[in-house]
Amino acid sequence: MRASALARRLGASVERRTGGLRPGRCVLAEYHTRPRTIVVYEDALAVASAAARDERLQFGDEILEELAIAHECFHILDPGGSEEGAHAFAAAFLKLPTSPAVLERALARYLA
Ligand SMILES: [Zn+2]
Repeated sequence: MRASALARRLGASVERRTGGLRPGRCVLAEYHTRPRTIVVYEDALAVASAAARDERLQFGDEILEELAIAHECFHILDPGGSEEGAHAFAAAFLKLPTSPAVLERALARYLA
């Protein structure tokens, strides 16, 4: 199952927008409760893609988007859950060989 299909099952729609690049931060996606929407930021995904390429990480563009959506799905399933929990969920859901936390760190270095 794709992460976007999981989102639909959880009653959330997925929207693509720009606006994920904020001072010192790169927000790949956010979950909004009213209405239930996972907003995926295309501009932030492009930066994450560049950061991944920079460090030769195996995160292709399609996986990055799936990753961002799966991460937010975890927050729908477990509103009080930790970021570590969201990374672990996304990695397991997408059967990733590498933890998304590695990408987060690459992104932080890329933005520094
Ligand atoms: Zn999160």
